[in-house]
Amino acid sequence: MLQTLQADITQLNVDAIVNAANSSLLGGGGVDGAIHRAAGPELLAECRLLNGCRTGEAKITKGYRLKARHIIHTVGPIWNDGKSGEADKLRACYTNSLRLAADAGLQSIAFPCISTGVYLFPADQAAQIAVESVRAFLQTPSSIQTVIFCCFSAADRARYESLLEA
Ligand code: ADP
Repeated sequence: MLQTLQADITQLNVDAIVNAANSSLLGGGGVDGAIHRAAGPELLAECRLLNGCRTGEAKITKGYRLKARHIIHTVGPIWNDGKSGEADKLRACYTNSLRLAADAGLQSIAFPCISTGVYLFPADQAAQIAVESVRAFLQTPSSIQTVIFCCFSAADRARYESLLEA
């Protein structure tokens, strides 16, 4: 089941929340900073052992002080001109995050709007890629039952609502 919510992703009670991290995995601004603050310093300690993460790839940690038991850290592409593979890399973020969740036997996962903050990926196109890549992944049966698109803004929420109705 696909759902959208307007919420702070750090508050969600799901098996995994996804972090729009940077390649160091050592924290940053935006949703990344919020997740590290809410999860506590143990998260940074685990992230230090992961040797970073490439754009489009994903790594899993525990959720520490979050309600979510796991955090899947993925690194979205920085928008350049749209002709530098940004769309494929963003699709890979969703697919690789879902694959990690399925490999761990998780049932529910929430995504933020990856790359649409300081990485400047156009919001409409990013939402389309998010919905398409999640739908494509769910064509194959796995443990995953619920995918939440957790929007921070009302505008993003409206965008996902209309895509999910279509
Ligand atoms: P990126 O570097 O991938 O662009 P950002 O964190 O700057 O990542 O922004 C990604 C998205 O996360 C934006 O839509 C931003 O509004 C949203 N966001 C920021 N804080 C939170 C939060 N606490 N919960 C959910 N979404 C958030």
